[in-house]
Amino acid sequence: MGNNILIKDILFNNSKCDILLKDNKIEKISQSLQCSGCEVIDGRGKAIIPGFINMHTHAAMTLMRGVGEDMELKDWLYNKIWPIEQKLDDELVYWGTKLACLEMLKTGTTFFNDQYWNLEAAVRAVSEMGLRSIQPYVILDLGDKSKFETIKKECSLAWENSKKWGSLNTFAIGIHAPYSVSEEMIVWGSNFAKERNLLVHLHLSETESENQDSIAIHGLTPTAYLDKLGVLGPNVIAAHCLWIDNNDMAILAKRGVKVVHNINSNLKIASGYKFRYNEFRDSGIVVTLGTDGCASSNNLDMLEAMKTSALVQKGWRRDATALPINELMDLSTKNGGVALGVNTGVIKEGALADLTIIDIDNYAFTPNINFYANLIYSANSSCVNTVICDGKILMRERVVKGEDEIIENVNRLFKKLL
Ligand SMILES: [Zn+2]
Repeated sequence: MGNNILIKDILFNNSKCDILLKDNKIEKISQSLQCSGCEVIDGRGKAIIPGFINMHTHAAMTLMRGVGEDMELKDWLYNKIWPIEQKLDDELVYWGTKLACLEMLKTGTTFFNDQYWNLEAAVRAVSEMGLRSIQPYVILDLGDKSKFETIKKECSLAWENSKKWGSLNTFAIGIHAPYSVSEEMIVWGSNFAKERNLLVHLHLSETESENQDSIAIHGLTPTAYLDKLGVLGPNVIAAHCLWIDNNDMAILAKRGVKVVHNINSNLKIASGYKFRYNEFRDSGIVVTLGTDGCASSNNLDMLEAMKTSALVQKGWRRDATALPINELMDLSTKNGGVALGVNTGVIKEGALADLTIIDIDNYAFTPNINFYANLIYSANSSCVNTVICDGKILMRERVVKGEDEIIENVNRLFKKLL
Protein backbone atom coordinates (compact mmCIF):
# COMPACT_ATOMS: atom_id res chain seq x y z
CA MET A 1 0.00 0.00 0.00
CA GLY A 2 1.42 3.38 -1.02
CA ASN A 3 1.08 6.75 0.68
CA ASN A 4 -2.17 8.52 0.07
CA ILE A 5 -1.70 11.64 -2.02
CA LEU A 6 -3.61 14.92 -2.03
CA ILE A 7 -3.25 17.12 -5.11
CA LYS A 8 -4.29 20.67 -4.14
CA ASP A 9 -5.59 23.53 -6.31
CA ILE A 10 -4.99 21.94 -9.69
CA LEU A 11 -6.64 22.88 -12.98
CA PHE A 12 -8.89 20.05 -14.18
CA ASN A 13 -11.39 20.55 -17.00
CA ASN A 14 -11.20 24.34 -16.77
CA SER A 15 -11.72 24.64 -13.03
CA LYS A 16 -9.58 24.37 -9.92
CA CYS A 17 -10.08 21.38 -7.67
CA ASP A 18 -8.42 18.99 -5.21
CA ILE A 19 -7.91 15.32 -6.00
CA LEU A 20 -7.39 12.68 -3.31
CA LEU A 21 -5.63 9.45 -4.27
CA LYS A 22 -6.05 6.47 -1.95
CA ASP A 23 -3.90 3.39 -2.55
CA ASN A 24 -3.92 3.02 -6.35
CA LYS A 25 -7.23 4.77 -7.12
CA ILE A 26 -8.76 8.21 -7.41
CA GLU A 27 -10.76 8.44 -4.18
CA LYS A 28 -12.34 11.90 -4.40
CA ILE A 29 -12.45 14.97 -6.64
CA SER A 30 -13.80 18.06 -4.94
CA GLN A 31 -13.11 21.58 -3.66
CA SER A 32 -11.10 22.11 -0.45
CA LEU A 33 -10.29 18.52 0.47
CA GLN A 34 -8.28 17.85 3.63
CA CYS A 35 -6.22 14.80 4.47
CA SER A 36 -4.00 14.25 7.50
CA GLY A 37 -0.92 12.17 6.78
CA CYS A 38 -1.29 12.55 3.00
CA GLU A 39 1.60 13.46 0.78
CA VAL A 40 0.60 16.82 -0.74
CA ILE A 41 1.28 17.97 -4.31
CA ASP A 42 0.87 21.71 -4.80
CA GLY A 43 -1.16 22.02 -8.02
CA ARG A 44 -0.87 25.80 -8.38
CA GLY A 45 0.43 26.69 -11.85
CA LYS A 46 -0.38 23.19 -13.02
CA ALA A 47 -3.11 21.19 -14.76
CA ILE A 48 -3.94 17.49 -14.63
CA ILE A 49 -4.80 15.00 -17.37
CA PRO A 50 -5.05 11.21 -17.46
CA GLY A 51 -1.69 9.54 -18.15
CA PHE A 52 -1.30 8.86 -21.88
CA ILE A 53 -1.79 5.31 -23.15
CA ASN A 54 0.63 4.36 -25.93
CA MET A 55 -1.27 1.63 -27.73
CA HIS A 56 1.44 0.32 -30.01
CA THR A 57 5.15 0.27 -29.35
CA HIS A 58 8.21 -1.96 -29.22
CA ALA A 59 9.77 -0.53 -26.07
CA ALA A 60 13.34 -1.83 -26.21
CA MET A 61 13.70 -0.55 -29.78
CA THR A 62 14.93 2.62 -28.07
CA LEU A 63 18.26 0.80 -28.51
CA MET A 64 17.87 1.23 -32.29
CA ARG A 65 17.01 4.91 -32.32
CA GLY A 66 18.52 6.23 -35.55
CA VAL A 67 19.80 2.89 -36.82
CA GLY A 68 17.98 2.74 -40.17
CA GLU A 69 17.16 6.19 -41.46
CA ASP A 70 15.53 7.04 -44.78
CA MET A 71 14.56 3.44 -45.59
CA GLU A 72 11.20 1.97 -46.68
CA LEU A 73 9.51 -0.65 -44.49
CA LYS A 74 10.45 -3.92 -46.19
CA ASP A 75 14.11 -2.96 -46.67
CA TRP A 76 14.24 -1.49 -43.16
CA LEU A 77 12.68 -4.57 -41.50
CA TYR A 78 14.36 -7.39 -43.44
CA ASN A 79 17.82 -5.87 -43.98
CA LYS A 80 18.27 -3.65 -40.94
CA ILE A 81 16.06 -4.47 -37.97
CA TRP A 82 15.72 -8.26 -38.04
CA PRO A 83 19.50 -8.93 -38.45
CA ILE A 84 20.23 -6.60 -35.51
CA GLU A 85 17.52 -8.22 -33.39
CA GLN A 86 19.32 -11.58 -33.70
CA LYS A 87 21.89 -10.13 -31.29
CA LEU A 88 19.44 -9.09 -28.56
CA ASP A 89 19.87 -10.55 -25.09
CA ASP A 90 18.19 -10.08 -21.72
CA GLU A 91 20.59 -7.35 -20.62
CA LEU A 92 19.98 -5.27 -23.77
CA VAL A 93 16.20 -5.64 -23.61
CA TYR A 94 16.18 -4.85 -19.88
CA TRP A 95 18.06 -1.55 -20.30
CA GLY A 96 16.34 -0.70 -23.60
CA THR A 97 12.95 -1.14 -21.93
CA LYS A 98 14.09 0.98 -18.98
CA LEU A 99 15.13 3.73 -21.38
CA ALA A 100 11.70 3.50 -23.03
CA CYS A 101 9.98 3.78 -19.64
CA LEU A 102 12.15 6.78 -18.76
CA GLU A 103 11.13 8.49 -22.01
CA MET A 104 7.48 7.62 -21.51
CA LEU A 105 7.51 9.13 -18.01
CA LYS A 106 9.20 12.30 -19.26
CA THR A 107 6.49 12.61 -21.92
CA GLY A 108 3.51 11.78 -19.70
CA THR A 109 2.70 8.15 -20.58
CA THR A 110 1.67 5.73 -17.83
CA PHE A 111 0.47 2.67 -19.79
CA PHE A 112 1.76 1.03 -22.96
CA ASN A 113 0.86 -1.87 -25.21
CA ASP A 114 4.22 -3.44 -25.98
CA GLN A 115 5.36 -6.05 -28.48
CA TYR A 116 8.93 -7.22 -28.18
CA TRP A 117 11.39 -9.99 -27.30
CA ASN A 118 13.00 -11.32 -24.07
CA LEU A 119 9.72 -10.98 -22.25
CA GLU A 120 10.90 -11.62 -18.69
CA ALA A 121 13.68 -9.02 -18.98
CA ALA A 122 11.19 -6.45 -20.30
CA VAL A 123 8.70 -7.16 -17.51
CA ARG A 124 11.44 -6.83 -14.88
CA ALA A 125 12.36 -3.40 -16.31
CA VAL A 126 8.75 -2.16 -16.47
CA SER A 127 8.01 -3.41 -12.95
CA GLU A 128 11.01 -1.56 -11.55
CA MET A 129 10.02 1.64 -13.37
CA GLY A 130 6.42 1.34 -12.10
CA LEU A 131 4.46 1.84 -15.35
CA ARG A 132 1.57 -0.29 -16.52
CA SER A 133 2.05 -2.46 -19.64
CA ILE A 134 0.66 -5.24 -21.79
CA GLN A 135 3.45 -7.71 -22.58
CA PRO A 136 2.84 -10.29 -25.30
CA TYR A 137 4.68 -13.41 -26.25
CA VAL A 138 5.36 -12.62 -29.92
CA ILE A 139 4.80 -15.25 -32.60
CA LEU A 140 6.98 -14.67 -35.69
CA ASP A 141 8.00 -17.69 -37.79
CA LEU A 142 8.55 -16.24 -41.31
CA GLY A 143 7.03 -19.42 -42.75
CA ASP A 144 9.58 -21.73 -41.13
CA LYS A 145 7.69 -24.86 -40.02
CA SER A 146 10.64 -26.12 -37.99
CA LYS A 147 9.98 -23.28 -35.52
CA PHE A 148 6.36 -24.22 -34.73
CA GLU A 149 6.99 -26.64 -31.85
CA THR A 150 9.55 -24.35 -30.18
CA ILE A 151 7.16 -21.38 -30.41
CA LYS A 152 4.31 -23.40 -28.90
CA LYS A 153 6.49 -24.58 -26.01
CA GLU A 154 7.98 -21.15 -25.35
CA CYS A 155 4.59 -19.46 -25.44
CA SER A 156 3.04 -21.93 -22.99
CA LEU A 157 6.01 -21.52 -20.65
CA ALA A 158 5.84 -17.70 -20.92
CA TRP A 159 2.15 -17.83 -20.02
CA GLU A 160 2.90 -19.96 -16.93
CA ASN A 161 5.71 -17.61 -15.87
CA SER A 162 3.48 -14.55 -16.33
CA LYS A 163 1.31 -15.66 -13.41
CA LYS A 164 4.07 -14.29 -11.14
CA TRP A 165 4.17 -10.84 -12.76
CA GLY A 166 1.94 -8.85 -10.42
CA SER A 167 -0.85 -6.50 -11.36
CA LEU A 168 0.94 -3.85 -13.47
CA ASN A 169 1.99 -6.13 -16.36
CA THR A 170 -0.52 -8.25 -18.28
CA PHE A 171 0.34 -11.17 -20.55
CA ALA A 172 -0.96 -11.20 -24.13
CA ILE A 173 -0.34 -12.88 -27.46
CA GLY A 174 1.52 -11.03 -30.20
CA ILE A 175 0.97 -12.27 -33.73
CA HIS A 176 3.54 -10.17 -35.56
CA ALA A 177 1.57 -9.79 -38.83
CA PRO A 178 -0.40 -11.93 -41.29
CA TYR A 179 2.55 -11.78 -43.75
CA SER A 180 5.22 -12.88 -41.26
CA VAL A 181 3.39 -15.68 -39.42
CA SER A 182 2.20 -18.99 -40.93
CA GLU A 183 -1.51 -19.72 -41.07
CA GLU A 184 -1.17 -22.63 -38.63
CA MET A 185 0.59 -20.46 -36.05
CA ILE A 186 -1.84 -17.55 -36.48
CA VAL A 187 -4.71 -19.89 -35.66
CA TRP A 188 -2.79 -21.56 -32.83
CA GLY A 189 -1.92 -18.18 -31.24
CA SER A 190 -5.46 -16.91 -31.62
CA ASN A 191 -6.91 -20.03 -29.97
CA PHE A 192 -4.33 -19.87 -27.18
CA ALA A 193 -5.52 -16.32 -26.46
CA LYS A 194 -9.22 -17.14 -26.68
CA GLU A 195 -8.95 -20.09 -24.29
CA ARG A 196 -7.24 -17.89 -21.70
CA ASN A 197 -9.10 -14.62 -22.26
CA LEU A 198 -5.99 -12.79 -23.50
CA LEU A 199 -5.53 -9.81 -25.78
CA VAL A 200 -4.01 -10.33 -29.22
CA HIS A 201 -1.72 -7.58 -30.55
CA LEU A 202 -0.86 -7.58 -34.26
CA HIS A 203 0.21 -5.39 -37.20
CA LEU A 204 -2.44 -5.07 -39.91
CA SER A 205 -2.41 -3.47 -43.38
CA GLU A 206 0.52 -1.21 -42.65
CA THR A 207 1.60 -0.97 -46.31
CA GLU A 208 -0.13 -1.15 -49.65
CA SER A 209 2.20 -3.92 -50.85
CA GLU A 210 1.20 -6.04 -47.84
CA ASN A 211 -2.39 -5.89 -49.13
CA GLN A 212 -1.37 -6.64 -52.71
CA ASP A 213 0.70 -9.66 -51.59
CA SER A 214 -2.14 -10.96 -49.43
CA ILE A 215 -4.60 -10.71 -52.34
CA ALA A 216 -2.11 -12.49 -54.62
CA ILE A 217 -1.51 -15.34 -52.13
CA HIS A 218 -4.87 -15.73 -50.37
CA GLY A 219 -7.26 -13.93 -52.70
CA LEU A 220 -8.19 -11.80 -49.69
CA THR A 221 -7.08 -8.58 -47.99
CA PRO A 222 -5.16 -9.16 -44.71
CA THR A 223 -8.32 -8.25 -42.73
CA ALA A 224 -10.56 -10.63 -44.71
CA TYR A 225 -7.88 -13.35 -44.44
CA LEU A 226 -7.64 -13.03 -40.64
CA ASP A 227 -11.42 -13.04 -40.44
CA LYS A 228 -11.58 -16.24 -42.49
CA LEU A 229 -9.17 -17.79 -39.97
CA GLY A 230 -11.50 -16.77 -37.12
CA VAL A 231 -8.88 -14.54 -35.49
CA LEU A 232 -10.73 -11.22 -35.30
CA GLY A 233 -12.70 -10.37 -32.18
CA PRO A 234 -13.00 -7.74 -29.42
CA ASN A 235 -9.72 -8.96 -27.86
CA VAL A 236 -7.72 -7.99 -30.96
CA ILE A 237 -5.65 -4.78 -31.07
CA ALA A 238 -4.65 -4.06 -34.67
CA ALA A 239 -1.85 -1.58 -35.22
CA HIS A 240 -1.62 0.68 -38.29
CA CYS A 241 -4.72 -0.26 -40.36
CA LEU A 242 -3.70 2.25 -43.02
CA TRP A 243 -4.94 0.36 -46.08
CA ILE A 244 -8.47 -0.55 -45.05
CA ASP A 245 -11.26 -0.68 -47.65
CA ASN A 246 -14.98 -0.51 -46.91
CA ASN A 247 -15.34 -4.28 -46.70
CA ASP A 248 -12.40 -4.49 -44.23
CA MET A 249 -13.95 -1.64 -42.24
CA ALA A 250 -17.26 -3.54 -41.95
CA ILE A 251 -15.43 -6.69 -40.80
CA LEU A 252 -13.41 -4.82 -38.15
CA ALA A 253 -16.57 -3.12 -36.86
CA LYS A 254 -18.58 -6.35 -36.77
CA ARG A 255 -15.83 -8.18 -34.86
CA GLY A 256 -15.21 -5.33 -32.39
CA VAL A 257 -11.50 -5.07 -33.26
CA LYS A 258 -9.66 -2.06 -31.72
CA VAL A 259 -7.34 -0.11 -34.02
CA VAL A 260 -4.19 1.90 -33.34
CA HIS A 261 -3.05 4.86 -35.44
CA ASN A 262 0.75 5.41 -35.57
CA ILE A 263 1.15 8.44 -37.77
CA ASN A 264 4.80 9.38 -37.18
CA SER A 265 6.02 5.87 -37.97
CA ASN A 266 3.71 5.66 -41.02
CA LEU A 267 4.97 8.96 -42.40
CA LYS A 268 8.61 8.24 -41.73
CA ILE A 269 8.69 4.80 -43.39
CA ALA A 270 6.37 6.18 -46.08
CA SER A 271 3.73 3.49 -45.48
CA GLY A 272 0.98 6.04 -46.09
CA TYR A 273 -1.00 8.61 -44.15
CA LYS A 274 -4.66 8.38 -45.18
CA PHE A 275 -5.80 6.70 -41.96
CA ARG A 276 -9.59 6.67 -42.26
CA TYR A 277 -10.30 8.06 -38.80
CA ASN A 278 -13.81 9.39 -39.51
CA GLU A 279 -14.89 6.11 -41.09
CA PHE A 280 -13.51 4.03 -38.20
CA ARG A 281 -15.22 6.29 -35.66
CA ASP A 282 -18.50 6.34 -37.55
CA SER A 283 -18.44 2.53 -37.78
CA GLY A 284 -18.26 2.41 -33.98
CA ILE A 285 -14.68 1.14 -33.91
CA VAL A 286 -12.55 2.11 -30.90
CA VAL A 287 -9.62 4.12 -32.29
CA THR A 288 -6.46 4.67 -30.26
CA LEU A 289 -3.00 6.18 -30.75
CA GLY A 290 0.51 4.80 -30.57
CA THR A 291 4.03 5.86 -31.41
CA ASP A 292 5.36 2.52 -32.72
CA GLY A 293 8.97 1.71 -31.78
CA CYS A 294 11.91 4.13 -31.70
CA ALA A 295 13.57 2.40 -34.66
CA SER A 296 10.83 3.82 -36.91
CA SER A 297 9.33 6.82 -35.13
CA ASN A 298 12.50 7.73 -33.15
CA ASN A 299 10.57 8.70 -30.03
CA LEU A 300 7.72 7.61 -27.77
CA ASP A 301 6.20 11.06 -27.45
CA MET A 302 2.40 10.86 -27.39
CA LEU A 303 1.90 14.63 -27.54
CA GLU A 304 3.87 14.71 -30.77
CA ALA A 305 1.82 11.75 -32.09
CA MET A 306 -1.38 13.63 -31.25
CA LYS A 307 -0.32 16.82 -32.99
CA THR A 308 0.85 15.03 -36.14
CA SER A 309 -2.31 12.90 -36.24
CA ALA A 310 -4.56 15.93 -36.13
CA LEU A 311 -2.55 17.94 -38.67
CA VAL A 312 -2.41 15.06 -41.15
CA GLN A 313 -6.13 14.23 -40.79
CA LYS A 314 -7.03 17.88 -41.40
CA GLY A 315 -4.59 18.04 -44.30
CA TRP A 316 -5.42 14.92 -46.30
CA ARG A 317 -9.16 15.33 -45.78
CA ARG A 318 -8.92 19.07 -46.50
CA ASP A 319 -11.25 19.51 -43.56
CA ALA A 320 -10.23 21.71 -40.61
CA THR A 321 -12.88 20.09 -38.40
CA ALA A 322 -11.29 16.63 -38.76
CA LEU A 323 -10.01 14.98 -35.55
CA PRO A 324 -11.06 17.72 -33.11
CA ILE A 325 -9.26 18.27 -29.81
CA ASN A 326 -11.69 16.44 -27.52
CA GLU A 327 -11.62 13.31 -29.71
CA LEU A 328 -7.84 13.51 -29.95
CA MET A 329 -7.59 13.51 -26.13
CA ASP A 330 -9.86 10.44 -25.99
CA LEU A 331 -7.71 8.62 -28.57
CA SER A 332 -4.62 8.98 -26.40
CA THR A 333 -6.24 8.32 -23.01
CA LYS A 334 -9.79 7.02 -22.52
CA ASN A 335 -10.01 4.84 -25.64
CA GLY A 336 -6.82 3.01 -24.67
CA GLY A 337 -8.36 2.07 -21.32
CA VAL A 338 -11.48 0.81 -23.14
CA ALA A 339 -9.43 -1.16 -25.69
CA LEU A 340 -7.27 -2.81 -23.03
CA GLY A 341 -10.15 -3.36 -20.59
CA VAL A 342 -8.52 -1.42 -17.74
CA ASN A 343 -10.25 1.30 -15.68
CA THR A 344 -7.75 3.99 -16.59
CA GLY A 345 -7.37 6.86 -19.06
CA VAL A 346 -10.01 8.91 -17.23
CA ILE A 347 -10.02 11.19 -14.20
CA LYS A 348 -13.01 10.16 -12.16
CA GLU A 349 -13.62 8.73 -8.71
CA GLY A 350 -12.91 5.00 -8.64
CA ALA A 351 -10.58 4.99 -11.66
CA LEU A 352 -6.96 3.95 -11.34
CA ALA A 353 -4.66 6.78 -10.24
CA ASP A 354 -2.67 7.03 -13.50
CA LEU A 355 -2.15 10.77 -13.91
CA THR A 356 0.04 13.32 -15.64
CA ILE A 357 0.55 16.81 -14.25
CA ILE A 358 1.34 19.61 -16.69
CA ASP A 359 3.23 22.86 -16.00
CA ILE A 360 1.09 25.71 -17.28
CA ASP A 361 3.05 28.58 -15.79
CA ASN A 362 4.98 29.24 -19.02
CA TYR A 363 4.72 30.89 -22.45
CA ALA A 364 3.10 27.91 -24.19
CA PHE A 365 0.02 28.14 -21.98
CA THR A 366 -0.25 31.94 -22.08
CA PRO A 367 -2.96 33.00 -22.50
CA ASN A 368 -4.71 29.84 -21.36
CA ILE A 369 -7.89 30.31 -23.38
CA ASN A 370 -8.03 26.67 -24.43
CA PHE A 371 -5.87 24.39 -22.27
CA TYR A 372 -6.11 21.32 -24.51
CA ALA A 373 -5.25 23.35 -27.64
CA ASN A 374 -2.21 24.76 -25.83
CA LEU A 375 -1.21 21.27 -24.69
CA ILE A 376 -1.46 19.68 -28.14
CA TYR A 377 -0.55 22.46 -30.55
CA SER A 378 1.50 24.95 -28.57
CA ALA A 379 3.48 23.10 -25.91
CA ASN A 380 5.81 20.13 -26.17
CA SER A 381 6.47 17.33 -23.70
CA SER A 382 8.86 19.39 -21.60
CA CYS A 383 5.63 20.71 -20.01
CA VAL A 384 5.13 17.32 -18.31
CA ASN A 385 6.02 17.96 -14.67
CA THR A 386 4.91 14.98 -12.59
CA VAL A 387 3.66 11.48 -13.42
CA ILE A 388 1.73 9.18 -11.13
CA CYS A 389 0.95 5.55 -11.97
CA ASP A 390 -1.04 3.13 -9.81
CA GLY A 391 -1.07 5.77 -7.08
CA LYS A 392 2.73 6.10 -6.95
CA ILE A 393 4.73 9.17 -7.98
CA LEU A 394 7.15 7.94 -10.67
CA MET A 395 8.37 11.36 -11.78
CA ARG A 396 8.27 14.48 -9.63
CA GLU A 397 9.32 17.89 -11.03
CA ARG A 398 10.79 15.97 -14.02
CA VAL A 399 13.07 13.82 -11.82
CA VAL A 400 12.94 10.06 -12.43
CA LYS A 401 14.86 7.76 -10.09
CA GLY A 402 17.81 6.05 -11.79
CA GLU A 403 17.84 8.23 -14.92
CA ASP A 404 21.67 8.60 -15.11
CA GLU A 405 22.20 4.87 -14.60
CA ILE A 406 19.81 4.03 -17.47
CA ILE A 407 21.51 6.39 -19.91
CA GLU A 408 24.98 5.17 -18.91
CA ASN A 409 24.04 1.52 -19.39
CA VAL A 410 22.38 2.02 -22.77
CA ASN A 411 25.38 4.01 -24.00
CA ARG A 412 27.65 1.19 -22.81
CA LEU A 413 25.55 -1.63 -24.33
CA PHE A 414 24.09 -0.50 -27.67
CA LYS A 415 27.38 -1.15 -29.51
CA LYS A 416 26.78 -4.89 -29.01
CA LEU A 417 23.97 -4.60 -31.56
CA LEU A 418 25.85 -2.86 -34.36
ZN1 LIG B 1 5.01 -1.89 -34.85
